[in-house]
Amino acid sequence: MAGKKCPECGKQTLFQNKNEIKCSTCGSTATIPPNEGKGGRGKQCFNCEKYKVFNGTCHECGTVHTYRDSE
Ligand SMILES: [Zn+2]
Ligand SMILES: [Zn+2]
Repeated sequence: MAGKKCPECGKQTLFQNKNEIKCSTCGSTATIPPNEGKGGRGKQCFNCEKYKVFNGTCHECGTVHTYRDSE
């Protein structure tokens, strides 16, 4: 099955394992922190590393993340 699109290399080879995302093409990794206790902050963008990803779109750099919350 296809993975998520990697913002670094553009391939759909990002795979999520628990709270970590890794690109099997370029090796980029990102950790998705739990959002508990963070009071409405978004998830961490694996491009700019800011916690401003809401509904898959980073409000800091505009990167569109195709993964979804597991909840
Ligand atoms: Zn990549
Ligand atoms: Zn970003």
